[in-house]
Amino acid sequence: MISAKGIQSLFLIIGLCWLPGSAAIAASKPAIAPVLVIVIDDLGDNRGRGLAAINLKGKITYAILPHTPHAKALAKKAHQLGKEVILHAPMESKSGLRLGPGALEQRHDSEQLKSILNSDFDSIPFVSGINNHMGSLLTEDRQKMNDVMGIVHQRNLFFLDSVTTPKTVAWKVAREHGIPYLLRDVFLDNEQNEEYIHQQFKQAVKEATKKGYAVAIGHPYPETIQYLEKALPIIEQLGVKLISASELIRLRTGQPLLLAKEQQHPCDQYEGHCLPESVQPDSANSH
Ligand SMILES: [Zn+2]
Repeated sequence: MISAKGIQSLFLIIGLCWLPGSAAIAASKPAIAPVLVIVIDDLGDNRGRGLAAINLKGKITYAILPHTPHAKALAKKAHQLGKEVILHAPMESKSGLRLGPGALEQRHDSEQLKSILNSDFDSIPFVSGINNHMGSLLTEDRQKMNDVMGIVHQRNLFFLDSVTTPKTVAWKVAREHGIPYLLRDVFLDNEQNEEYIHQQFKQAVKEATKKGYAVAIGHPYPETIQYLEKALPIIEQLGVKLISASELIRLRTGQPLLLAKEQQHPCDQYEGHCLPESVQPDSANSH
């Protein structure tokens, strides 16, 4: 267990080496000041966990699952607090994991897929973008991604590729449609313990410092929320600024395109949802 003070002093020691002004970084100073986007996925099934995530201080971006019991209320609350809301669109995975309502699947034809996605968007107010929930099967399918991006383009939204397979074509198809897009760099909580989350958070800060920006995705696990409650207040001391996904899109206009990354953690095969059964989000019936 790392205390709040422990995290702060650990960061201050390491953080000094990462500041953009240091000699090591100065030679390849990025074009934009280091910024970090943190997205919390999977909101909507559990009210308490959702509210805890939304109450985190700072410009976190919230990805909400469509047609879930608390989706609308959580989106409204986040919006009232000036936070960004995006649709967390469930897409079919190779491992056949349960997707929940509003899922986009391989068996759907073009019209079905567009109709489901439109209904997903309509189920959540205030969305400015979309990212994929799971999707290791669907995001490798160029035709399906064409159907998805057609709707995203019509609605004038951005796309964040969660990169749940190294062979994703989703961000490439978004680019072909002229849709602003981002790629996930780091999953914060493939393992739900503080030491692991701390390492991943440091990795996200390091990537942001190296290339000017990074996108980290986490989930509303108690361990993740507790960690972020301690780490977010000192984030600017690490030389990075927390901004929303759409703010990063605006900053990156005219920047070189991102490159898809290889997966680094075995849990990535579970689409960033490598959680034991005991901590699965609770069902609609329990609220
Ligand atoms: Zn998800």
